[in-house]
Parts: sequence; C-alpha cells; structure tokens
Amino acid sequence: MAYTTSKALYSETIAKIKEEGLYKDERIICSPQSAQIRVRFPADAPEKEIINLCANNYLGLSSHPEVMKAAHEGLDKRGYGMSSVRFICGTQDIHRQLEEKMSKFLGMEDSCLFSSCFDANGALFEALLGAEDGVFSDRLDHASIIDGVRLCKAQRFVFEHSDMKDLEEKLKSSNCRTRLIITDGVFSMDGDMAKLDEICALAEKYDALVAVDDSHATGFIGKTGRGVHEHHNVMNKVDIVTTTFGKALGGATGGCISGRKEIIELMKQRARPYLFSNALMPAVVYASLRVLDILSESTERRDRLEKLSQTWRKGLTEAGFDLKPGNTPIIPVMLYDAKLAQAFSRDLYEEGVFAVGFFYPVVAKGQARIRTQISAGLNQEQLDRALAAFIKVGKRHGVVK
Ligand SMILES: *Cc1c(COP(=O)(O)O)cnc(C)c1O
Repeated sequence: MAYTTSKALYSETIAKIKEEGLYKDERIICSPQSAQIRVRFPADAPEKEIINLCANNYLGLSSHPEVMKAAHEGLDKRGYGMSSVRFICGTQDIHRQLEEKMSKFLGMEDSCLFSSCFDANGALFEALLGAEDGVFSDRLDHASIIDGVRLCKAQRFVFEHSDMKDLEEKLKSSNCRTRLIITDGVFSMDGDMAKLDEICALAEKYDALVAVDDSHATGFIGKTGRGVHEHHNVMNKVDIVTTTFGKALGGATGGCISGRKEIIELMKQRARPYLFSNALMPAVVYASLRVLDILSESTERRDRLEKLSQTWRKGLTEAGFDLKPGNTPIIPVMLYDAKLAQAFSRDLYEEGVFAVGFFYPVVAKGQARIRTQISAGLNQEQLDRALAAFIKVGKRHGVVK
C-alpha cells in the first residue's frame, strides 16, 4: 500500500500547517455574492447576515440584475457549453465580439480570451519568449505570473518591488534578444499601484516590451476605469495587458490578453492554454459584454468606489491602524502575526464583518494582515458599522488604543 506512507506524510504536513496558525478554513456563503451576505462559520453554524469586505466585487456587478439577465440570455440563445477549444469549433460570434470590445475598452489592437487570467499568464511568456530572451518581473508579481515565467525558457530577472533603479540595473546589464517587463498593475496583497509611467520610460530607453496584469484594476482604476495604464497616462505605451473577468467585471470566470496585433495573433497559434483548454461558456461571454456596456455608459460606479475607498482608508488611519500605503480599493490592515490575523478575523466575524486574514504562503512570513477590499455595492452606513467593529476588535487585541 503505497498510500500508507504518503498518507502519514500528508497528515503530518497538514498538522504542521495547523500548528503554525496557517490553516485556512472556508466560510460557507448561502447567498449571492454581494456587499452584504449570509454566511455559515463554522460550516455547521447557523446562517448569519454580515458585511463583506473581502470580495473582488469592486464594482458591485457580481449579482447585478442586468448582468444576470445577460447571462440568462446567453444561455438561452447560445447554449450551455462549447465542448471545444476555440480553434476547433469553440469560437462563436460572441467570443469575437467580446475580444473586440475588450480591445476597445483597454485601448489595445486585439484580444484573446482564456478560461482565467491564471491561464492567460500561463500562456503569455512561453508563447512569446525563447532562451535568447529575458523577462523582468517585480518581486511581488502574482503567483500566476511567477508560474507563467517558470514555463518559459527565457532568462529571469526579478527586480525588487517597484524599485526602478534595480529594474534599470537589470535591464542595462542583460544581454537578450527581446526584453519583456511584466508587473501587476495593482498589487493584490499590498494594494499599491505599479509605477507604470516610469516602467514605460525605462522600456523605451532599453528597448523592452511592457506587459501589465491589471486584474485588480480593469474596470475601475483610471478616470474611465481602463486600468493602471490610463491612470498613469501610458495607454499607448503598454504592449500587453492581461486581466480577468473574475473580479470587477462581473466576477464569474474568464481571462484575457490584449495587446499588439501580432502578439495576439501569435497567442492564438502558440499559447498552450488557448490551444488545449475549453472556450468560455456563452453565458459568461454575454454577461461580460453587458458589463463592458454598463462601464462605457457611466463612470458612476468607479467614482463611487474611489470615494468609498478614500473614506474607509481615512477612517482606519484615524483609528490608528497600520495600513499599507496606496490609493486603490485594496486596503490591507497590517497585523504581521498569522495567529493574530486569524483571531482578529474571527472576532470581526462575531461583530458582523467578513474580512479574512492573509498569511503565509499568500504573503511573506511575518507579514500577516487583514486585507480589506471596498466595493461600489457598499454604502456609508455599512462602512461606519464595519469601522466600529474594527476599532472594537482592534482594542481587544491591543492593536489600536
Ligand atoms: C486574481 C488574479 C489572477 C487570476 O485571475 P483568474 O481569472 O481568477 O484566474 C491573475 N493575476 C492577478 C494579478 C490576479 O489578482
């Protein structure tokens, strides 16, 4: 019985994870995703109505009636599934429509859909870069970027987080055919924005391509929500944007690479997750098309999100919490210790606030935190209640006075 040995090994590992306070218990949500949800925690506890401060539902579109209606329409008109990858018989007119609409929204020449942004990042580097090339990646880039880079044969240069001197040093001393700089637009764990304007300037100086993963930005960062390239006014300088439909844009599933025409054309010939994984389901495509229409009609949601994020940050700062600096809806409350983060989150739950603790391996050891995320679906009254809960729990744990 081979499994006897492995079983002991796995059980030991799990016990160790628990001992270090790093075990993740999932809370069970019994309602649609929203600013206020019904949750069971522990899993057999009764349902509880609670304010949600940890969804990527930035624009409050996850359960928006028009988005749901569009998804139903997609289901009715184009069926449930494609049962094919795109290049065999998985491309409907609506897939091309969504690609065109995304290109237009992001200011890019063309786009290519994936099952997820994890897949998009898994596809990008291997399809574009060979052993003669170099990829320059920020130390805090998302796990899917790290994995994507691992899949390609290019030389790897990891520059310190948003450290332009270090990036320049590495660009200067490298000897590669193609140089590609890849960064998160908004860093998911810290909530700060990449210095994309400076990155683009360096790219110009050292003849490098610029790719940005705007998963935590598309739809709401920048004046009209195009992303970090809009915020930094470098829309025409970025060569590649990867992003997700699984966050602000309705939050279901799906990813996308947008960029220069030849790059997208090459993706459709070479990218393994594109060639070997199923096409997006029509309901998701329909709903995503509707989301882009909603965002093009008005900036009301992103404006509201910006305002709520600012008041939330201000409230926490005035209460004395230690926050990561930034100006996005991701506002991490630093606690450093994993067990404290777990206890803090549990107490917040008792006080009616859903905000989970983040700790190793999701962030570095000794960098545990409660990551709060604001949604345009929240209102000020809910944020006031949430702040009161943070202060109460913060005092209990001696985090604030
Ligand atoms: C969430 C996220 C992804 C993964 O997106 P999915 O579509 O959920 O796979 C990729 N990159 C970044 C920066 C993310 O935050």
